Amino acid sequence: MIYNEEFETLPREALEALQLKRLKQVVQRVYYTVGFYRRAFDQAGVQPENLKTLDDLKRFPFTGKQDLRENYPFGLFAVPMSSIVRLHASSGTTGRATVVGYTQRDIDTWSELMARCFAAAGLTKNDMIHNAYGYGLFTGGLGAHYGAERLGASVIPISGGNTKRQITILQDFGPTAICCTPSYALNLAEQGKAMGVDMRALKLRVGIFGAEPWSEEMRREIESALNLTALNIYGLSEIMGPGVSMECLEGRQGMHIAEDHFLVETINPDTGEVLPPGETGELVFTTITKEAFPLVRYRTRDISRLIPEPCRCGRTHHRMDRIMGRSDDMLIIRGVNVFPSQIEAVLVGIEGIEPHYQLIVDRIDNLDTIEVQVEVSDELFSNADEVKVLQNMERRIVKDIKDYLGISAKVKLVEPKSLQRFEGKATRVQDKRRI
Ligand SMILES: [Zn+2]
Repeated sequence: MIYNEEFETLPREALEALQLKRLKQVVQRVYYTVGFYRRAFDQAGVQPENLKTLDDLKRFPFTGKQDLRENYPFGLFAVPMSSIVRLHASSGTTGRATVVGYTQRDIDTWSELMARCFAAAGLTKNDMIHNAYGYGLFTGGLGAHYGAERLGASVIPISGGNTKRQITILQDFGPTAICCTPSYALNLAEQGKAMGVDMRALKLRVGIFGAEPWSEEMRREIESALNLTALNIYGLSEIMGPGVSMECLEGRQGMHIAEDHFLVETINPDTGEVLPPGETGELVFTTITKEAFPLVRYRTRDISRLIPEPCRCGRTHHRMDRIMGRSDDMLIIRGVNVFPSQIEAVLVGIEGIEPHYQLIVDRIDNLDTIEVQVEVSDELFSNADEVKVLQNMERRIVKDIKDYLGISAKVKLVEPKSLQRFEGKATRVQDKRRI
């Protein structure tokens, strides 16, 4: 089902006319209301009047995470605090958090976009949604919550954590859909199994997973463990929160970007040059309807590619491929670019090991080293009285990583359930290099 037939199926020409009209308004507005943008535009020698076509956007400067930090907490807001009805913040793993604000109209837009996402997953008001995204300053929980209510579905605001209770509620309430991070979905499946629950017999029909990069292999793993259709959702608090783009049930390949609200570009992360649609690069978003916290050309650091080909679902909005990694957590191992998600893709394809892993990167005698610690399955572990079995498995993983990624890794198999579990975003890389 398409939630907003009119806007989600706009012919490209009409969509681009709408985008241009909205984009002109937003560059005007930020120039006259946000000191940071006035200075940045002046410095780059561009004025709002210079924007005559969508293509002119590339003459405007980027906004980076650093700009958000430097204007902490409210320096980039384009409306007075009296017009703000909600604040969220992203966790600051390094340095200050970034704070985002919403007017009532921003919240209404966000709710609609999330309702579109749920509809794209085949959900209606007759569904019950188990929302295990964290509630609070993180945008995941409340973003999904308001969208589910807008759709008219019944929402269980379970939030993250307390996994045993989640499993009991999944059994007793019988929700038909679940939202959480993909790693938490696997965590739920595993703990449910340990509790003796048949996780495939739950009523769950569809899962909406996001907030961290994951792979096709991980999708199959989740689908088989929970007996549901797993769909990918994308968003980031700086741009809105979840619901910036969403996979449709019919296509299941790439996520439709809400292009009537966001303009997307892909750039070469090193040079900033705009790439033709279809080429892999860093995603850059411009918000074209946001009132409280508009951003022009925000560099997400997320690496993906656009899919301009039409989709069988009838939506005309372009799709983006799943996130392949981040340009800033991309690991460079002896000169080779490696994303943790690529290593994950190799691991999930191997029988006998679990998709729980940790990467330890170091530099020894001026050479980069990478160690992949990965859990073996219960079955393999209990049958592994012969050291040979484990050694063969290690050799196979080393070979696969070498074949697929071109790097030599050290592989260490560890006991089932010995690595740290994550209830929110997984942090799988320990980079010990001091360069
Ligand atoms: Zn589609």
